[in-house]
Amino acid sequence: MTEAVQSEKHSFQAEVSRLLDIVAHSLYSERRVFLRELVSNAADACDRLRYEALQAPALLGDDPDPAIVLAPDAKARTLSISDNGIGMSREELVGNLGTIARSGTAAFVKGLGEAAKEGAPSLIGQFGVGFYAAFMVAARVEVVSRRAGSDEAWRWTSDGRGEFTVEPAARAARGTDIVLHLKEDAAEFAEEETLRAIVRDYADHIAVPVRLAGAKAGEALNQASALWTRPRGEISEQQYAEFYRHVGHGFDEPWASIHWRAEGRIEYTGLLFLPSDAPFDLYSPERRHQVRLYVRRVFITDKAEELLPRWLRFVAGVVDSADLPLNVSREMLQNNPVVRLMRQGLVGKVMGELEKRAREDAEGYARFWKAFGPVLKEGIVHDPEQRQRLLALARFRSTAVDGWTSLAEYVGRMKEGQEAIHYVTGESPDALRRLPQLEGFLKRGVEVLLLSDPIDDFWLGEVEGFDGRKLRSVTRGGDDLARIKVPDAPAEEAPAAGEHDALLALLKLTLADEVKDVRLSQRLEDSAVCLVADDRDMDLHLERLLRQHRQLGAGAKRILEINPRHALVRAMARAAQGEGGGERVAEAARLLVDQARLAAGDPVPDLAAFARRLEGAIARMLG
Ligand code: ADP
Ligand code: MG
Repeated sequence: MTEAVQSEKHSFQAEVSRLLDIVAHSLYSERRVFLRELVSNAADACDRLRYEALQAPALLGDDPDPAIVLAPDAKARTLSISDNGIGMSREELVGNLGTIARSGTAAFVKGLGEAAKEGAPSLIGQFGVGFYAAFMVAARVEVVSRRAGSDEAWRWTSDGRGEFTVEPAARAARGTDIVLHLKEDAAEFAEEETLRAIVRDYADHIAVPVRLAGAKAGEALNQASALWTRPRGEISEQQYAEFYRHVGHGFDEPWASIHWRAEGRIEYTGLLFLPSDAPFDLYSPERRHQVRLYVRRVFITDKAEELLPRWLRFVAGVVDSADLPLNVSREMLQNNPVVRLMRQGLVGKVMGELEKRAREDAEGYARFWKAFGPVLKEGIVHDPEQRQRLLALARFRSTAVDGWTSLAEYVGRMKEGQEAIHYVTGESPDALRRLPQLEGFLKRGVEVLLLSDPIDDFWLGEVEGFDGRKLRSVTRGGDDLARIKVPDAPAEEAPAAGEHDALLALLKLTLADEVKDVRLSQRLEDSAVCLVADDRDMDLHLERLLRQHRQLGAGAKRILEINPRHALVRAMARAAQGEGGGERVAEAARLLVDQARLAAGDPVPDLAAFARRLEGAIARMLG
């Protein structure tokens, strides 16, 4: 069989083609980052070889020291990046370089419309394009690779336009060469000086030595020591940032870098990063934290989920343990006491850093909270141990401030006579502000927290209170408004005792099938009626959420509150007392209940009847 016969054409996965389209159209000014991506992959390949060699030392052969070699050729306008790492088999070349392995990324790219091309530079800033960054500078890319332990080598070739070819090749030993046939306007990347500068800027943190072809073994362009083992004082912001991008696959700046050595019951080094921007796949079910586990400098896995809880899935970094055995397996990590202690240590460090930031940089912390708050709130639901600390870290929209407030600040603003922390949950702070149930609170200057993350109703179900105060929904149960004085308000003429008795009795009778109870309201000011949930029932918004997700059939009956000071209600009260007004009041009551349902976002059970009553009312209005 000749080589030509064995050469196979493949199409890229549709999402890869789209990604390549974005890369090709990008006017990304920082295209030098292609080298960071390729060197990052080469270093990962060396790490994975070392891990496999723990079980099979023969894989190292007579070339045990990891190395990355850059071979520029200015005349031919090519640059090759070679490593002696794990290499790729034919199947791996096709799979790894022809499809997007991370399903979160694939889904994200799929979701980008054609318009994505215009947004290319900023998009590239949002997620790593990884290997495909090579096509920012190369018109054609060749990858020659030989998997460790195999004697076959394969060549993968593509111009990044829809297809790639795979054919047999020759390579003396294991490892991978990435050969870039540079675009005309990218000739600078075949120059040694440029490469030196790029490695210094973008790859100094890489623990594997990066050399120019022909250089002696000692002459690395980078420091070639594991970044986390260096003292903090010797690491620049830029080096931390590049390391963050290497492990976190992010393109943003790390918002916080936490670097420490733990000594005591267990010994390890931690280097954790908190991102500035939410990664696009933050809410994808496949999203995992990006913390890599090393044991005494040897990479073990980037899939040790046990290291952090899911509510810290945006964290990236490295933990290097001195206690775990080198041959630790995935299974051994589960229920491992060392891992459990490290997890406690990592969570504690992240929490401590957040508390410090919240104290010292309120504005920066608010930005962080905006991006990651909903994820941290998952911790309030699932992690009772961290619950109170997370509540103290939580920030909220509220009726009293323009920006964000903490619960402690809220408590500091509580009114005389106010006992609980009041909140309301719903779709958006603006819509919440306008709910009739808030009127009495606003009138009295009682602050209400406006919660609009879908998770809010769930953590509220787990939390008793904060700082000794109960958290209470303004759309559920009674309220303590009567105890709170209205500032500068003229003493209100109280409705005459018994004025509404007949009305209440009539409403309860008429609406017996529709509502659980009818009562006079404190919380209404301008509106005539509203619905609230009984103390023992599910809150209004939670029920609506569950119904939308078909987790719930019919909901509980609501309580109808009427505003005793409202002109309409007073007119109804008079009619209810008079002779023969009963049927008219009953009709009005049915109309009002439906209107209250609409205002609360609840469905109206009989829309046709509602429309008929409304028409009748309009007709009477027009005489
Ligand atoms: P990522 O590094 O985020 O996984 P990339 O697009 O950078 O994504 O690389 C895709 C995959 O291709 C890698 O996960 C790896 O399996 C494989 N790969 C890339 N470069 C190399 C290399 N030099 N040696 C071995 N495998 C590689
Ligand atoms: Mg990569």
